[in-house]
Amino acid sequence: MTERVVIVGAGQAGGRLAAILRKQGWEGGITLLGDEFDPPYERPPLSKEVLADDADPLVGRLFPDTFYQEQEIDLLLARSAASLDPVAKRIQVGHENLDYGTLVLATGARARRLACEGADLPGIFLLRNTEDARGLRPRLQPGAHVVLIGGGFIGLEVAASARKRGCMVTVLEAQPQLLGRVADPAVAEVIQNLHRAKGVEIRCGAQLEAFEGHGRLQAVRLTDGTRIPAEIAVVGIGAVPNQELAVAAGIDCDNGIVVDAATRTSAPDVLAIGDVTAQSHAWLGARVRLESWENAELQAQAAANTILGRPAAAVGAPWFWTDQFDLNLQILGGRCPHDRVVSRGNPADGPWCHFFLKDERIVTACLGNAGRERRAVKQLMDSRAPVEPAALADPGTSLRSLVPKA
Ligand code: FAD
Ligand code: NAP
Repeated sequence: MTERVVIVGAGQAGGRLAAILRKQGWEGGITLLGDEFDPPYERPPLSKEVLADDADPLVGRLFPDTFYQEQEIDLLLARSAASLDPVAKRIQVGHENLDYGTLVLATGARARRLACEGADLPGIFLLRNTEDARGLRPRLQPGAHVVLIGGGFIGLEVAASARKRGCMVTVLEAQPQLLGRVADPAVAEVIQNLHRAKGVEIRCGAQLEAFEGHGRLQAVRLTDGTRIPAEIAVVGIGAVPNQELAVAAGIDCDNGIVVDAATRTSAPDVLAIGDVTAQSHAWLGARVRLESWENAELQAQAAANTILGRPAAAVGAPWFWTDQFDLNLQILGGRCPHDRVVSRGNPADGPWCHFFLKDERIVTACLGNAGRERRAVKQLMDSRAPVEPAALADPGTSLRSLVPKA
């Protein structure tokens, strides 16, 4: 019998892997199992055009509905894998067992919940999937008071979208700066200034104590006693990896399912990809859990390579982006120690870049409305070549010209 690849998690990484396998010649069976009702889709539009511009919540669908049948991919939706037996090579789904040759865990992450007083009042939302977006969007009415708990990607993108719809918006961030997980204070300040200029109230160092209301949300209360009126709150305080299946099966996990560059877990014939993984990242030189669109794509390809018996591809600087109001911010690298900051351009009057250097090499780059420079900056970072700070800072010097010739 030809081997069957079973993919648990029909999100971006799982859906992409199924398609790559077929495209690149896998002739065995493919089962793609997901616990959502919708077919695989990309999530980035959910906090952006879906909330701000009334876009179809499924605008990010990976493939037309007919694709799966045409490609002989067994897509099982609204069904959850309950357990995994890596010795028998079998997963349990409801009352059925599914046997696999290779299992791929692509279970993603879920929004972290708050457990404070009033946290179950109507009017409090999370944003992870299309259902969440469908529930939240009609509540973002002009004049509504919306409070974002968390000044990370969700909080800031939803703040921009809600403001665009005419809501009164407050962002509460527990840390002293916004986007602390990914951005340097200098970049966080640019974003804070942008939001304030657009009428968003930003409070850093804010400790939430409780949600208040009778039968529905009416206010949020901070530990310093401040009371902020709110009909809507969106909790964006980070994501938790859906690693329970792996943990129960005895697979190594450490804030995510631990994988190598070929996406192998500690169990034979079990791979893992996407937000759920903690990977040893060659470029960053550390074990990290990357929660990004790019990582879902790259690890889908890496798992396909492993299944098809091909070597793993080289890994470069991670990349992700965010869109808030009229700012497109692209971040390459990670929050790494640096010894020099070089700025190119000025946020006040056009595209800008902040480069963070360590030993003359760029370890992090933040590009504001300068997406056209991304390719050159990534090549420069992947090459690990030393760069001349004066040339980086000079908008008259093409970044492409600094990339070493292969
Ligand atoms: P997911 O897309 O989360 O898919 C995992 C799937 O597995 C889910 O459908 C889940 O329900 C399912 N599942 C879990 N457990 C089981 C089980 N036991 N059985 C069956 N199914 C299961 N990244 C960027 O780089 N740029 C952006 O602008 C950006 N915007 C984003 C906006 C939002 C609102 C969100 C939520 C994320 C955003 N991201 C962005 C992050 C990006 O979407 C994720 O990194 C990406 O979705 C990860 O893909 P994944 O397949 O690993 O996980
Ligand atoms: P996030 O980016 O990790 O940001 C969460 C922020 O909330 C952190 O700064 C966190 O601070 C703060 N926080 C935690 N507890 C808090 C509390 N009680 N009160 C106030 N602030 C608190 O996570 P997210 O914005 O929730 O995003 C969830 C997932 O979606 C992530 O995987 C993210 O990558 C993904 N996403 C990505 C994008 C993008 O790439 N553009 C867009 C949307 C969503 P601490 O660091 O101290 O915990």
